[in-house]
Amino acid sequence: MQSPVFGFSPCFCLIQVALYLLSVNRTNTLRNQLACLVLLTFYGIGCNSNNGSLGNLDPEIEAIISQLTLEQKVGQMTQLNLGFLSNSVQQHDGKRKQVEWEKVKEAIHDYHIGSILNSNGYAKSFEEWHEIINGIQDLAMNEEPSIPILYGIDAIHGATYIKDAVLMPHNIAMAATRDRALIRRSAQLTAQSTRASGIRWNFDPVFDVGREPLWPRFEETFGESAYLCGQMGSEVVRAYEGQELDAGIGVASCLKHFIGYSVPASGKDRTEAYISNLELWEQHIASFQAGVDAGASTVMVNSASVNGLPIHSSRYHLTELLRDKMGFEGMIVSDWEDVIRLHTRHKVARNAREAVKMSIQAGLDMSMVPNDYSFYHHLVDLVKANEIQVSRIDESVRRILTLKKKIGLFKHPKVEKNLMQSLSLEDDFKLAKEVSDASIVLLENHGNTLPLENDERIFVAGPACCSKPALHGGWSYSWQGRDESIYPESTETVVQGLREEFGENRIACPVEQAFGSSDHYKIDFAKAARDCDVIVLCLGEDAYAETPGVIDDLTLPAEQIKLAQAALKTGKPVVLLMLEGRGRLIHEIAESADAILLAMRPGTAGAKSIAQVMSGRVNPGGVLPFTYHRNSGDIIPHDHRFLSKYSRRSPGPLTEKGFQPQWPLGHGLTFSDLQTKIDTIRIPSNHLKDSVIIEYTVANASIRDATQAIDVFVTDEYAAGISPRIRVHVGFDKIQAPAKSEVKNSFKIAPRSFQFVDSEGIFHSEAGLFTIELAGEMRTIELSP
Ligand code: BGC
Repeated sequence: MQSPVFGFSPCFCLIQVALYLLSVNRTNTLRNQLACLVLLTFYGIGCNSNNGSLGNLDPEIEAIISQLTLEQKVGQMTQLNLGFLSNSVQQHDGKRKQVEWEKVKEAIHDYHIGSILNSNGYAKSFEEWHEIINGIQDLAMNEEPSIPILYGIDAIHGATYIKDAVLMPHNIAMAATRDRALIRRSAQLTAQSTRASGIRWNFDPVFDVGREPLWPRFEETFGESAYLCGQMGSEVVRAYEGQELDAGIGVASCLKHFIGYSVPASGKDRTEAYISNLELWEQHIASFQAGVDAGASTVMVNSASVNGLPIHSSRYHLTELLRDKMGFEGMIVSDWEDVIRLHTRHKVARNAREAVKMSIQAGLDMSMVPNDYSFYHHLVDLVKANEIQVSRIDESVRRILTLKKKIGLFKHPKVEKNLMQSLSLEDDFKLAKEVSDASIVLLENHGNTLPLENDERIFVAGPACCSKPALHGGWSYSWQGRDESIYPESTETVVQGLREEFGENRIACPVEQAFGSSDHYKIDFAKAARDCDVIVLCLGEDAYAETPGVIDDLTLPAEQIKLAQAALKTGKPVVLLMLEGRGRLIHEIAESADAILLAMRPGTAGAKSIAQVMSGRVNPGGVLPFTYHRNSGDIIPHDHRFLSKYSRRSPGPLTEKGFQPQWPLGHGLTFSDLQTKIDTIRIPSNHLKDSVIIEYTVANASIRDATQAIDVFVTDEYAAGISPRIRVHVGFDKIQAPAKSEVKNSFKIAPRSFQFVDSEGIFHSEAGLFTIELAGEMRTIELSP
């Protein structure tokens, strides 16, 4: 595929003249204007690239490209890790790394690199970031032509790598809020701090659909519903990019990890997935398409493979699907070291050179190499050997430079220090508290165990009770989030939050140690029970990110189950608090616990929110964004097909009990007596064009203000050809329901929600019976042809 700049077209000669004029002297305004006019005229009236993805070309960018040598172009496509440019590449050796400026200089001057990523191991203060970013840009601006460096970072659930940053709940908890405004405001906050640190590209949000609970990155997803993932994710994209990116506001987003990463067959990180085309369209593409439509600037590729095809070498996925079918026009970056892994892990390339060739032919624009110059050397060599056309290189460089321009790097390459003025940790904490309040899910509350009574003595135990990492999860001040020494001093643990809320003398906590301490399991509950009225048992998972979070068994570790059984044996009420990134199976204790709170990874304000839910100051309103499974042999998602619900336990009749989750997607209790009732359903005369409208009432009979998450599901009762799915999640909302009041509202269900997609990605509409479920109430309607 050739771009018109280098291909033969009727415009060829004039365009070459124009480019020449631009490159000879970029400061001669008259000549520039003339050249730009020629370029605009010819490119603007339809000399688009033949893959249709580049749109109209920008003369300013073309002028830069025309000045670049092959080495400089390939350098733009090369992304290096800051650790590689420091005194130790190791991210996890516990040492503070220093940037080595000679290495940075070499990378920029000798290898012309276009991008750097990552923190070299730990969160840094704004001042440190400013020094690094300005130092890098100074070096880049000394080059000829001067092209600023695109710096990328993982600011996941807040500004992960900024020292003392307030961290938000992870996406999985964020999705439990069902609150678009909250996620938007959180993403704005992340963008604001990230940009103020000098970084303008965030490897976020995750659009992977969380349908495999073993997968260690489950907490980074918005859960199991493709609709929820797509909607929540696109709120983030719009919050990051909806503003004037070249004028100091926002950051470029990155949809990741395209595609199919989240459902590995073994549940283990970065291993192969087998996904039918049907499921690819129903779930994974559905989610990512929302992000593409929201205008995301970049996409990061799945490190693993789908149906045996490593995505980094798949032209089908990166070009035909993502660009041609889904319409993505931005820049595609690889994930960590994944080009060379086509050779070392996937074994589709006989050597590193072939791996580079495959990835470029597939459609990759930038390689996150990130710890050597192999990509650079091989790609230069491939072009010189005529195995890759320079026009293909230009396509990628064009996308990279266009992004640099879009985020204002050419205008202001250095840190925009004025942005520091609008930052306030106090305001950030208030927002984080609002979000964590809204994200906590009350799963069980027998006999109104919660809120706790005013005078109850509370015994607090369990490995999560004093663990900051368990509250935050991975990507918290370091990659794994486990190093407590770099958390802000003010971060509270659960037990500290409870002390603050209930008073020191009402709380007993015999083991105040890190998650891994064996002392947590030596507690004598029989003795403890004599001096307390209620036990708060904090269970779950320590922090982890990516591969280090791999587990072989979804069941909560046996020692924790035993601990809970010992607590339950005392006969005292037991409140289970779960801090975890995925729904670890707890059926052995779930049925006998008096109350269960699922806080997942609530972040910096999490301890306060948990304590205030326990005291009743906060009325919980979060609902599950995934199916909380009961048994390891029953991992069936909420929107399964009809067959999954049938089951025969021999001996016995065929029943509809094939799907028995511990708690279904959408489940969540409040302290109020809320009733939601469908009032009317308006069916349009043309359901292919117009929405079905549901009018409903939420009644709050209690004396507490509450919020009600509204989930809307549609079940197509019969569909010709492809068996329909049950309860497809098609909408959500969050309603404020003040005490002793009735709130009326309405919900629009778009025509697309009554359609089904086939394995070619074609949507079909059929008239007939559909069951609509809104906040638990079901109605069957008939759509006429
Ligand atoms: C992860 C990505 C992340 C990248 C850069 C990879 O290991 O899979 O999600 O953006 O590292 O830190």
